[in-house]
Order: sequence, then structure tokens, then C-alpha cells
Amino acid sequence: MKEYSALALLKNAFSGNRDWKPAWRKPDPKPEYDVVIVGGGGHGLATAYYLAREHGISNVAVVEKGWLGGGNVGRNTTIVRSNYLLPANTAFYEHSMKLWETLSHELNYNVMFSQRGILNLAHSPSQADDYIRRGNAMRHDGIDAVWMTPAEIARKVPGLDVSARARFPIVGGLMQPRAGTARHDAVAWGYARGADRRGVDMLENCEVTGFLRDGDRITGVTTTRGEIRAKKVAVAVAGSTGRVMKLAGIDRLPIESHVLQAFVSESLKPAIDTVVTFGGGHLYVSQSDKGGLVFGGDIDGYNSYAQRGNLPVVEEVMSELASLFPGWASVRLLRSWGGIMDMSMDGSPIITTGPLPGLYLNTGWCYGGFKATPASGWCFAFTIARDEPHPLNAAFTLERFHRGAVIDEKGQGATPRLH
Ligand SMILES: Cc1cc2nc3c(=O)[nH]c(=O)nc-3n(C[C@H](O)[C@H](O)[C@H](O)COP(=O)(O)OP(=O)(O)OC[C@H]3O[C@@H](n4cnc5c(N)ncnc54)[C@H](O)[C@@H]3O)c2cc1C
Repeated sequence: MKEYSALALLKNAFSGNRDWKPAWRKPDPKPEYDVVIVGGGGHGLATAYYLAREHGISNVAVVEKGWLGGGNVGRNTTIVRSNYLLPANTAFYEHSMKLWETLSHELNYNVMFSQRGILNLAHSPSQADDYIRRGNAMRHDGIDAVWMTPAEIARKVPGLDVSARARFPIVGGLMQPRAGTARHDAVAWGYARGADRRGVDMLENCEVTGFLRDGDRITGVTTTRGEIRAKKVAVAVAGSTGRVMKLAGIDRLPIESHVLQAFVSESLKPAIDTVVTFGGGHLYVSQSDKGGLVFGGDIDGYNSYAQRGNLPVVEEVMSELASLFPGWASVRLLRSWGGIMDMSMDGSPIITTGPLPGLYLNTGWCYGGFKATPASGWCFAFTIARDEPHPLNAAFTLERFHRGAVIDEKGQGATPRLH
């Protein structure tokens, strides 16, 4: 497999770009692997990469029912940040941020990680107190956080209505300068190529339809491309967690599947060079390199496995955008789509061994699984290889919900709708 470089670009330009090789092979399934990973999204692919890279385990297959990157990893609004309050989340997401910072070089694949910052707007004194507390917790842990006044915000984000007459006046904002965005499908492709180069098999159009068992122990999977035996089976299927785990006989999990929509506007000239989130409702917006505004809001609020949403949320998100940026009210919406979200009951993820011998589970990513991709794969690979969690994911257990020891970042209770 060739390295991607400026020299390779030049050489291929002279040969009419006919010598590029596919980024990963299309092998037939082998009868047995050391590890089968179910789900070729960002988390499954990153797990495969780090299993091979960090633990020397490369007799691995990633089993994907559709095409690599066709799930949430290719459907999200691409925001990457580590601005959390609770210790378990802070340490985990900052580890992810550090992996993001070197990811393009690490993978020899440009994931277009752009540290343009994220600004959380506060619209009331109590919200400002809350954000300042979070910023202080971040700084205490060595994570960058800056409090911005309305005047500083007005200079940083022209077009934002910071006037006292605004529908939701802005009293300040918490900025994380190292946060930003990345090219979502490049992340999937980069990890896939990196894992493939180390011998991992990518099995696309291969749906897991059941599990092979020896008593309680999981010993492989049945798929639309035949039976595959495995010493270990790791499930990372995001919004399909309930459906896939049911095939293993696990029919009660602290996870609900919900649809979340994303929106892209027509291309504009450069209008906003950071990510802005609205504290008066739920809206996040940035501008892509092609000029489109990329934005989203709340989940639709009902359980669903459909990759499309409904008009009430479209209307709500558009009205929030127009109230923050009145000048954008006439910008045309170009595209929208939905993804199936694995919403956990406390808003935090699960990366664990079990719940059956031979089985490993990665789920519960809610709104935030894209930014978690590197750390999630890194920690899940560790957990699979060593049969125990890394300290960074030790708190992300399944049994915390039995004990009530939840990691409820927002303190909102066991309601996925609110996380
Ligand atoms: C609209 C939207 C906006 C978002 N915005 C952000 C954001 O700005 N920042 C952020 O951090 N996060 C964001 N997220 C969340 C983030 O995208 C997800 O949490 C994360 O991508 C989930 O992990 P994944 O990439 O592994 O999932 P996926 O890419 O969904 O991968 C799961 C894979 O499992 C496969 N699968 C399912 N069932 C089977 C089966 N039976 N057999 C084989 N394969 C199967 C699916 O086909 C899929 O490819 C957003 C999500 C959505 C939908």
C-alpha cells in the first residue's frame, strides 16, 4: 500500500491518476478470526486499527451490514470537543482530543481536523455560572477553556445577534479554542485503510443475523455471508445496539434508539470561523470548507430506527438559527438527513467486557460519539485485548445503571431526551 504524500500526488498526476490503489481490500470472510467486530462505523474501525497497532492483534474482521462509514460516522455534524465537567468524561474526551491532534499523521490520511474552537453561548446569569464552573473544572484538569464577554463574542462571531433586544440575549460564552471539526467520512476511511494495512479484513455487505454460542459463551456470528467463528466478538453498532444485542439474547439495555437530524445550507462566503452552540435551546452550527452551514439540534424525541426525521424539529432548529443569526434567515436549506442515535440513560457511554463471556460492548454515544471515535477505539481495543477496561473507560460500565452510579453530565436524570 502506497504512502499518501505530495510526491505521490505529483507522480500520479503524471500518470493520469490511474495508479491509485483502493484504500482497503475486499476479502472473502475467513472461517475464523481472533476478533470479530460488528459494525463498520467510526468506533468499530478505530477499534480494529488500535487492536492491530497497539496490541498486535490483526487476525480481525470488521463485519458491516452496509458500506464502511454509511452509519452515524458519515452523518454527523463533525464537532470535536473535550469541554466536559465530570472526571470520567473529562479524562476520556481529552484523551480523544490528544489523539485527534495527531490523527492525520498517524493514519497518513488527512482527516481535516480543524481546531477552530467551540463557543457555548450563555443566555442567563445562572447559565453563565454553570459554564464558568465547567470551564474552571476543565482548566483544573489542564484543558483549555476561556470565558468570553459579549463584546469579545461580537468581535469573534460577526452576524450573531448580541444586542439587548435579541430574543435570547447573550451574557457571555465558554470557548474551548482547541475544539473544532473534522471531515467525518475521512475518519472512517483513514481508520479502515490503517487497519487494512495491518491485516484486518473489512467485510462489507455482511449483516450479522445471529450469534454462535457454546452455552453462555459467544463463539462467533452468523452473517449474510456465512458463519464466522471468533474467540472474541465486539459489538459497536451505535443505534442498532438493541437489535443486535437481542440476537445474543440480551433484550434489556439502558439504551434507546432515537433519530437525530443534520442540516446543510447552500454555500456562503466565509461567515463563521468557529463552532457556536446556543444555550437557550439546542443548536450547534459551523461552516464547512465548501461554504455550507452545517447545523443540528435536538433528537426528534420518539424511538425510531429510521434514518430520517420529521418537520417539527426542522422548524425548531431553523427558528433557533434565525433567532441567533437574523441575517441568515433567508439562507436556503440544501440537504438534511437523519442518523440513529444510541441514547444512554445518563448521557455517557458504555465500553465494557460482557455482558456474556466472549462478548464486548461499545454503545451509548448520544450526541457525542464522533469526537469520541479515537478514544473509544483505543479504549475498546485495550478492553478486548486485555479482558479488562483501561482506567480511561473503567467508569463506562453497564452495571453502573444497576447501582445507580450514573455519569449524568447535565444532572438531568434518566431521560435520554434530555442528554
Ligand atoms: C445527525 C447527527 C449529528 C451528530 N453530530 C455529532 C457531532 O457533531 N459530534 C459528535 O461527537 N457526535 C455527533 N453525532 C454522534 C456520532 O455520529 C455517533 O455517536 C457515532 O458516529 C456513533 O458511532 P459509530 O461511528 O461507530 O456509529 P455508526 O457509524 O452508526 O456505525 C455503526 C455501524 O453498525 C452497522 N450495523 C448495524 N447493525 C449491523 C448488523 N446487524 N451487522 C453488521 N453491521 C451492523 C451499521 O450499518 C453502521 O455502519 C451525531 C450523530 C448524528 C446522527
